[in-house]
Amino acid sequence: MDQTRQIDTLTEQRLDRVRWIAKQHYKVTDAWFTLVGSDRQWCRNSEGSVSTDIPDALSFTHHTLRHNELFVIEDALRHPEFANHPQVVGSPHWRFFAGVPIRDIEGGSIGTLCLVHTSPIPSGTLNFEMLHVLAHQIEDEIGRHLLIQRPPGLKLDQLDALTGLPDRGLLQRLMREELALARQSQGNLSVCLINLDGFNSINESHDTAAGDAVLKVIADRLRDAVRRKDVVTYLGGDEFAIILRDVLQPAICRRILDQIRTPIQTEEHVHSLTASMGITCYPDDEADADALLHHAYQAMYSAKEAGKNGYCYFDPKLHHSRRERLAIARDVRLALSQQQLELFYQPAIDYHLDTVTGFEGLLRWRLPSGKILPPGRFLPQIEHTWLDIEIGKYVIDKAVTAIEEIMRRGLPYSVSVNVNPSSFLDSGFVDHLHRTLAHHDQSLVERLTLEILESASPQEDMDTIAANIQACLQLGLQLSLDDFGTGQSSLSYLRTFPTQKIKIDRSFVMGMLDNPEDEAIVAAVIGLSKSFNRQSIAEGVENVSIEAHLKDLGCDIGQGFYYSPALPFEEALQWADNYQRQR
Ligand code: C2E
Ligand code: CA
Ligand code: CA
Repeated sequence: MDQTRQIDTLTEQRLDRVRWIAKQHYKVTDAWFTLVGSDRQWCRNSEGSVSTDIPDALSFTHHTLRHNELFVIEDALRHPEFANHPQVVGSPHWRFFAGVPIRDIEGGSIGTLCLVHTSPIPSGTLNFEMLHVLAHQIEDEIGRHLLIQRPPGLKLDQLDALTGLPDRGLLQRLMREELALARQSQGNLSVCLINLDGFNSINESHDTAAGDAVLKVIADRLRDAVRRKDVVTYLGGDEFAIILRDVLQPAICRRILDQIRTPIQTEEHVHSLTASMGITCYPDDEADADALLHHAYQAMYSAKEAGKNGYCYFDPKLHHSRRERLAIARDVRLALSQQQLELFYQPAIDYHLDTVTGFEGLLRWRLPSGKILPPGRFLPQIEHTWLDIEIGKYVIDKAVTAIEEIMRRGLPYSVSVNVNPSSFLDSGFVDHLHRTLAHHDQSLVERLTLEILESASPQEDMDTIAANIQACLQLGLQLSLDDFGTGQSSLSYLRTFPTQKIKIDRSFVMGMLDNPEDEAIVAAVIGLSKSFNRQSIAEGVENVSIEAHLKDLGCDIGQGFYYSPALPFEEALQWADNYQRQR
């Protein structure tokens, strides 16, 4: 979507304020804020707004975007690419530049926030934390703006020509009126946002006339599905909103969805559609009209995430935790850029040879205070975000560096790392893996294992994940099924992913001496591994009795606190060295 055309004056004023704060805070000549569209770049600075065609490949903005993180030029005159830049050698004679990317909710870069100064500044003298904070503020503003403004260009007080329903502008006015009324009478108000699932495919496989006909039918059906005093509006695209003067009952939600699900006959075809619906209710959700709509949107996205064709209520309590999640994501982003994330290495023991075979790399966050946070404290909060993918790439790089060092020292160990299967849906991650491993010798690649966790994904995603994993396997790395036995589809995973190793979850291993069912599962997975010709790895080996029993059952590899917890790299190598010596 081209966001450069869509900023309204109010949003522009708010963004300008952020820009101004940046300029004052860093005491620089100017601060810019740019948005990059598909074919345009929109820049706002102290002189106002400029909009230019096609981003200039030489521009600072362009470099920041390519860099995709904080990009600083301490002195442009000494910078090989910028020393001859027209704005450096000529007016306004820029010397210093610092920019950070601005990202959309999916993590894609959509613009930059930049500082410029007419004399050089050593970057060590500035703390860029504030610049990141301000960039996030801009992200929030734009996010809000897009949620509320989309789609642009509707006039106020109008009925939509196609559906005959009130349009977005009218909806906002009606909502404000209804809300005032509800406040006065201490009544209720529900806002329900409906987004059709897969409507685009109708427009793509037929002409737009077919799409229009479908929208008209749905508009009529929605009007019939509610009472006269309820308001049905059309927001454009494939979105409708309904306002009701009381709490929206599940029965009505189902009736609305049923109305949409009923096949629609147009001139030549029968179309089958479903919809996702988000609902928020005042006064449980004590918000103004804009925020209510925004919340209904969020609930609708949750309904989409939950598998579409259903409805979700906005939960003001969860909203809070969503804010917390965002806050943690911001901290993690900083941690990543400041190298506070590292891998600790937990040794694994080969039970047949009684030697250390290698290590599992486990993520740790070393806070500036020295405190070390385990992954459970921050990874769940960023699941399914672009940061998740960024961390995945980072972990791969760290593991490759560790293997390089191990090989340089002539040691035999391998390294495994944890990867979310959904990473394999992201072309950025897959490309990164390919690029990284293609540069290295086969002997290094063979020492790398990816531990894959089971995750619930739709079948089409599973097919993509399996195909991408297959492509990675061809590079020669190893694969391990992690936490085997805990998910619902372990056996089908075994078939979908031809892994060399199976890792028995620690919950079974730790309980196997006291609980016959756990023991049966451990024995069964070891047996399964043998018949499928895979290696079995037990994690959570906490004492010598568990070790002895696992060896009796024919387990191949063991890992756990009985040997060692995960340690910083050098300590882990030291530990392995001692272990080998004592044999
Ligand atoms: P996991 O893959 O099952 O990793 C094993 C976890 O069990 C580690 O916790 C480890 O410290 C702990 N553990 C090892 N031996 C024992 C034992 O004998 N007894 C007990 N009680 N625990 C033991 P950690 O490091 O907190 O990691 C937790 C989970 O976080 C991991 O579970 C993994 O799913 C995830 N994780 C860790 N690092 C990464 C990473 O780099 N990327 C991704 N995507 N996930 C990671
Ligand atoms: Ca693991
Ligand atoms: Ca596990």
